[in-house]
Amino acid sequence: MSSLYIHIPFCLSKCPYCSFVSWPGMDGLYQRYVAALLREAAGLRPDASQLPLSTLFLGGGTPSLLAAGEVAAIVAGCRKLFGFSGQAEISIEANPKTIDPAKLTLLRKSGINRLSIGVQSFNDSELQSLGRPYSAEDAATTVYQARAAGFDNISLDLMYGLPGQDHHSWQQSLEQALSLAPDHLSLYGLTVEQGTPFHRQQDQGLLDLPDEEEIAAMDQITAALCREGGLAHYEISNYGRPGYECRHNINYWQNGPYLALGAGAFGCMQGRRQQRVSDPQRYCALIESGQSVIVEEECLEREASFRETVIMGLRMHCGVSREGLRRRYTMDVDTCYGETLIRLLDQGLLEMDAGHLRLTARGRIFANQVMAELV
Ligand code: SF4
Repeated sequence: MSSLYIHIPFCLSKCPYCSFVSWPGMDGLYQRYVAALLREAAGLRPDASQLPLSTLFLGGGTPSLLAAGEVAAIVAGCRKLFGFSGQAEISIEANPKTIDPAKLTLLRKSGINRLSIGVQSFNDSELQSLGRPYSAEDAATTVYQARAAGFDNISLDLMYGLPGQDHHSWQQSLEQALSLAPDHLSLYGLTVEQGTPFHRQQDQGLLDLPDEEEIAAMDQITAALCREGGLAHYEISNYGRPGYECRHNINYWQNGPYLALGAGAFGCMQGRRQQRVSDPQRYCALIESGQSVIVEEECLEREASFRETVIMGLRMHCGVSREGLRRRYTMDVDTCYGETLIRLLDQGLLEMDAGHLRLTARGRIFANQVMAELV
């Protein structure tokens, strides 16, 4: 299994809750950025054992802002340099405002076979408060158009815990999403990040967020509707039809190695995690002058990496494989966590058998606290 993540850091506008590496108003840079990406790709030189690629993920930002020809050039460049395995999953994130039938057809022809549409809500006033420049109807139309263009693996992103939202409006949004028969859903609770307009509004008491009871009701609705819709809850925030789980993300949750390209992108190979410069102009200038774009590099110690693999693995319903841990680290969870593990098992937050360690249903409610104990 080998994966490549490519970051496209451009957006139409900056959403008021967003703290990702993403920049609006850089249309003039797209072509130059794609050329820089391909140049960085040519210099990557992964081991032959890591090729061909099993997954490619174009994430952002808003990768669908690029012209279809630019996306096609990236996919073709990766195919030429790294190759793709027969069943490779090739995903792109898309914003409904930035795609139309012609573009979708060209994206599909370029080899993209999985579309992840950032809808966020099917409620127009929520979309407005999130700064999303399209309507619920536009989002639904995009899904129909994507099916017509030949996409048979479509994921929708939705957010809950939004300002002004209650469990009724969440239910309507989710029902609307499910009525479009998506193959996969990513459902994220809003987190108010430092430095964002939402954070400033919260400081001023102007952000009307739903309380814990409302969030618990939303969680219950999510579980029931996704189950009825045939989408299995395979990761804390992710639901998929059997066989449509996101393989690229599963590799992250298994703390597997992955290559990366692009401004602000993190890659992790042979235990070395590298971060690239986040300013796209600077990224292009460095690549063009043959300089390194790596601004930070970290090598995790064996135990730190073991703990990270456990925490990431617990995000998935199947949990983390004990045999896999032993083979990879020659360590076991019992010896690493001792008393802490016994207590979490006794409290019914974790369960363990010969094969796996995983969160219980109760443990998933308190996942953040459990994971904080295992860091
Ligand atoms: S579209 Fe996504 S990446 Fe871009 S500003 Fe909005 S939330 Fe951030």
